Amino acid sequence: MRLIDTHCHLNDTKAFPDPSEAIAEAHAAGIDKLVVVGVDPKMNARAMEISEQFESVYAAIGWHPTSTKDYTRESLDLLIEQLDQPKAVALGEIGLDYHWDFSTREEQYRALLDQLDLAESRNCPVIFHCREAESDLLDVLEKRPKTVPYLFHCFAGTVEDARRGLDLGGLFGVDGPVTYPKSDGLRDVMRFLGPERIVIETDAPWMAPVPYRGKRNRPSYVTYVNEALAAALGITPEECAAATTRNAEKFFGF
Ligand SMILES: [Zn+2]
Repeated sequence: MRLIDTHCHLNDTKAFPDPSEAIAEAHAAGIDKLVVVGVDPKMNARAMEISEQFESVYAAIGWHPTSTKDYTRESLDLLIEQLDQPKAVALGEIGLDYHWDFSTREEQYRALLDQLDLAESRNCPVIFHCREAESDLLDVLEKRPKTVPYLFHCFAGTVEDARRGLDLGGLFGVDGPVTYPKSDGLRDVMRFLGPERIVIETDAPWMAPVPYRGKRNRPSYVTYVNEALAAALGITPEECAAATTRNAEKFFGF
């Protein structure tokens, strides 16, 4: 079985002061590639650094909606420079977050629209973070040309949101919550999507799956996400791994 953790934060230096251990552990568990995702300039720089250090690690860089208070148009220059590096494979995580109010909605929209322009100009895949704002994010995307691939990371929307995301050609990321006993609604959405439109991720160090729920998450735990997703879809873990890995490889161009 070959798996990819399509979304982790080994660039969180508090949780992963030395990411080499977590990477080795992930390889031992059958994870052969990891995408480390940035949220602000510091985390973006660290994601780039780790991706340059480890062959199996790739970077996504972007301004997370909750960081956009400090965003300026000039900061796009650094993103462009970073996207020129061969290990930078996506723009993200970008999007809308109405749960936290670290940035105003206006600040979030400005950074989102600028980064979407950038992604489209470079034909770069985009990873979205979206919390309690699914319908507004989809409204934005439905008005744009469908020229770049979209990945809705840690998807928590309804079946109707999922249908709209599918119409945009999107992929959907599933994490630890698919292992939680009370996530029947999420598992229904996953069945609606089917294995051809899903990728698996950990979001480590957050959102650990059962049996590590509440503890610090690690990329190797993506195996638990794969097992729970396979059970929800009624397929074998091997089939689930093959489909989700294939989807991720296509999205990131591996
Ligand atoms: Zn994340």
